[in-house]
Amino acid sequence: MSESRPTVRLGHLYPDHLNIYADRGNIAVFRRRLEWRGLALEVVETGLGDEIPADCNLYYLGGGQDRDQLLVAEDLVGKVAPLRQAADGGAVVLAVCGGYQLMGHSYVTADGKKMRGTSLLDLETAASHDRLIGDVVLSVNLDGHTNTVVGYENHAGRTRLGPGCTPFGRVDKGHGNNGQDGFEGALSGRRIGTYLHGPLLPKNPWLADILLRWALDHAGAAVELEPLDDTLEQAAHATAAARAGLKR
Ligand code: GLN
Repeated sequence: MSESRPTVRLGHLYPDHLNIYADRGNIAVFRRRLEWRGLALEVVETGLGDEIPADCNLYYLGGGQDRDQLLVAEDLVGKVAPLRQAADGGAVVLAVCGGYQLMGHSYVTADGKKMRGTSLLDLETAASHDRLIGDVVLSVNLDGHTNTVVGYENHAGRTRLGPGCTPFGRVDKGHGNNGQDGFEGALSGRRIGTYLHGPLLPKNPWLADILLRWALDHAGAAVELEPLDDTLEQAAHATAAARAGLKR
């Protein structure tokens, strides 16, 4: 740790290739929610050709177009060992949309290009010719509590989960993993993959704090996260839920 304040070390993978819909905004949320509590975030960015550090508490992959995803997939699969090692040791992984697809075993684009994934989550994705687009509302259970998570999806991929993971949420509004089974995203321990981006965390502070609590635990920093004044965040959450056609 480079600072004396309890610090979460975040590995941001492929910030130049996986950052559509301003997915980078999720990192700003992590930073501010830590700083408001006197804690700190340290970000290590790794791109094509860079080694992935094994000593991060939290890893983040954003969404990408198929073209960028192809470049990333070729680079990532051969060098994923430190990420797997960290995740096996309890580090948090949050992967969004294109990044989520790369957490699975494979992704096949609509024009038949097949990419291997990292197999960090037991799932497979194949793209269709039409896209699943729109506002989403989920019921998500984490750490024994169920809460509403709101977001936005835009993907051609249809994802099917294997027995090694469970869905991240149940779809109350929107399409989710494949538009058919009523579930969204994937969860295995502290690994979360989701199609929700745009960014996800500013309007879901509950989720941001759970991820931070897990990451701090992995960092060995036993700190209580004091509640923050989330009036604005809750207003954004309510607006997104209402826009999706669901009032809570
Ligand atoms: N290329 C993927 C798809 O369309 C992911 C797109 C994204 O990240 N929005 O399914």
